[in-house]
Amino acid sequence: MSLVLSGRKYARVVRASLRDRVNGLDGSPPGLAVIMVGDNPASRVYVGAKEKACKKVGYSSRVICLPAEVTEKDILSLIDELNADNSVHGILVQLPLPDHISDDRIASAVLPEKDVDGFHPVNVGRLWRGEDGLFPCTPSGIVELLHHHDIAMSGKNALIVGRSNIVGKPMAALLLRENCTVTVAHSRTVDLKEQCLRADILIVAVGRAEMIKGGWVKHGAVVVDVGMNRNSDGKLVGDVAYDEVSSICSAITPVPGGVGPLTIAFLLENTFKARSKLPVK
Ligand code: NDP
Repeated sequence: MSLVLSGRKYARVVRASLRDRVNGLDGSPPGLAVIMVGDNPASRVYVGAKEKACKKVGYSSRVICLPAEVTEKDILSLIDELNADNSVHGILVQLPLPDHISDDRIASAVLPEKDVDGFHPVNVGRLWRGEDGLFPCTPSGIVELLHHHDIAMSGKNALIVGRSNIVGKPMAALLLRENCTVTVAHSRTVDLKEQCLRADILIVAVGRAEMIKGGWVKHGAVVVDVGMNRNSDGKLVGDVAYDEVSSICSAITPVPGGVGPLTIAFLLENTFKARSKLPVK
């Protein structure tokens, strides 16, 4: 039987620790501002969950909803205001943005010290250079989940399937910092199965229901499933065929209850960290 790496349980531990740290603070609590553009139902759910999570740990949060027709210039001036506001320690712009707005220009406008998503080029550079900074929440949560379960990373062969800027690439940088030997696979990778079979740590972030089968995984590997997909029955499943793989690997994250809850927990961690780097009001 493999060990189930429950992100849901670990996220509770993280939130309890944050509540204690918030209670011990002098001055104002950490403050998060979330900008949402348009009325995407999934974004509404995510933003609502972030607001609720902030409340639970005693943060102040502000959600600013803008119409889909808002201009990029107007969003940039709002970000300028939030950059200058001492009660706001973290700024997050909920993706996706409408096509007429550049994700890159928006990410670069947020002050790196308030960039709790870790998308600003300065933070990306700090991550790859091995410097301190704010790093993307999902991969940060994964590394801490593995530490929490005392999973050895140094010297291990890690394969990351997926090379997005949000998950795959920052995951690669973070595992390099943990002294893994890192390979990144993507849609043009030749013989993905062979690559997977070599991995001691396999992280999958593709977005294809149950694409990683039992016969693709090395005995005793640690498997982290980032994917969130609906299968043909409408059930939420990951990128890994859980039932097949869990009898082969030594540890695995379930879907749901695995990586998902870590993302918001580490958004809260990043906001706390951002507050401690900025002058306290
Ligand atoms: P993207 O669509 O941005 O990236 C997907 C990656 O998978 C790309 O690099 C793509 O390669 C690669 N890929 C696609 N098909 C294959 C294939 N057949 N074989 C190998 N690689 C392939 O996705 P994200 O990184 O944003 O998200 C991935 C999944 O993780 C999604 O299900 C998403 O919902 C989930 N997710 C979950 C989060 C959570 O909190 N639990 C947070 C973020 C994401 P190429 O670059 O060549 O196109």
